[in-house]
Amino acid sequence: MTQIEHFDVIIIGGSYAGLSAAMSLGRALRKVLIVDSGNPSNKQTPQSHNFLTRDGESPAEIASKGKEEVMKYPSVSFQKGRVTAVTKPDDYYNVQTEANGVFSGRKLIFATGVLDIIPDMAGFAECWGVSILHCPYCHGFEFKGEKTGIFGNGESGYEQTKFISNWTSDLVLYTNGESTLSKKQAKRLKKNNIEIVEKEIQGFEHENGQIKNIVFKDETKEPLKALYASPEVKQQSEVPKELGCDFTDHGRIEVDLFQKTNVPGIYAAGDNSSMGRAVSVAVSAGSVAGMMINKELVGEEFEAKNGKS
Ligand SMILES: Cc1cc2nc3c(=O)[nH]c(=O)nc-3n(C[C@H](O)[C@H](O)[C@H](O)COP(=O)(O)OP(=O)(O)OC[C@H]3O[C@@H](n4cnc5c(N)ncnc54)[C@H](O)[C@@H]3O)c2cc1C
Repeated sequence: MTQIEHFDVIIIGGSYAGLSAAMSLGRALRKVLIVDSGNPSNKQTPQSHNFLTRDGESPAEIASKGKEEVMKYPSVSFQKGRVTAVTKPDDYYNVQTEANGVFSGRKLIFATGVLDIIPDMAGFAECWGVSILHCPYCHGFEFKGEKTGIFGNGESGYEQTKFISNWTSDLVLYTNGESTLSKKQAKRLKKNNIEIVEKEIQGFEHENGQIKNIVFKDETKEPLKALYASPEVKQQSEVPKELGCDFTDHGRIEVDLFQKTNVPGIYAAGDNSSMGRAVSVAVSAGSVAGMMINKELVGEEFEAKNGKS
């Protein structure tokens, strides 16, 4: 019978949050396994911005540099693969990977990110992260002053349009059908020279992901440089739900200030448990999770030596 290898901590998801957690744990001499399926949510964006020391580098470069630093710690190992199930037959969590490997860990960190549900519109997927944008702090500077659209409606569309007016005054709100803005909101947008277009969107003409025109179902089109959109997201891994983790109303794993979930021994970090979608935020949360898990382990080990005395 093959022996299952034991780890202090198994980190599921080895992108920014997972690697950052591994660094704290490697520096705390912990035996750590990172399992990663290689699907970070920013993979299509050519340049990542707003993360100190790595501003403008590609997402893959940042992750690869991070991995190189983390793998210098001898107690950290990395497996490429997807975790499909986790069970807890005893004090350890058994982590099953797609390739039928089983590893056991005293504690777990889920750093599994989220998946964007891309609307079924021609060109949207190709432009996502290139000229269809999720966040102005990440990409707004590069499109400052350019003709920019907001894909939204109602209260959230109004708020997003107001917000993006910081980066450009050449703005159009595309409601993709009848506007659900209040009269007051529509009046305020018009006062700021922001057009509201209610036509239904067919898709986007683009060159290598750079939008050229937004195309409407009535076969008209107009030129555009960038579009902000907020697609729905879902968790990339169902395993935290299967293990009984609580979720917020926004579908994120609920964590406390130390990144701890409601399930003993399970932490979460990064996009899967935060609305602040940025590399810096994921790195920070991963670091906190790693440090706090180590503290929990130190406490347990120290007190176990004292027995019941
Ligand atoms: C298009 C786009 C552009 C962006 N641009 C920027 C930017 O310029 N600057 C910035 O700061 N932020 C940017 N972001 C946000 C940033 O990408 C995220 O905040 C960041 O990737 C979150 O890191 P994470 O580690 O939590 O998750 P992710 O980076 O999404 O990584 C999750 C990892 O977990 C793995 N995983 C999931 N499930 C499993 C499983 N069951 N088993 C094993 N592995 C699993 C995945 O394969 C993946 O590698 C952008 C986001 C998008 C969508």
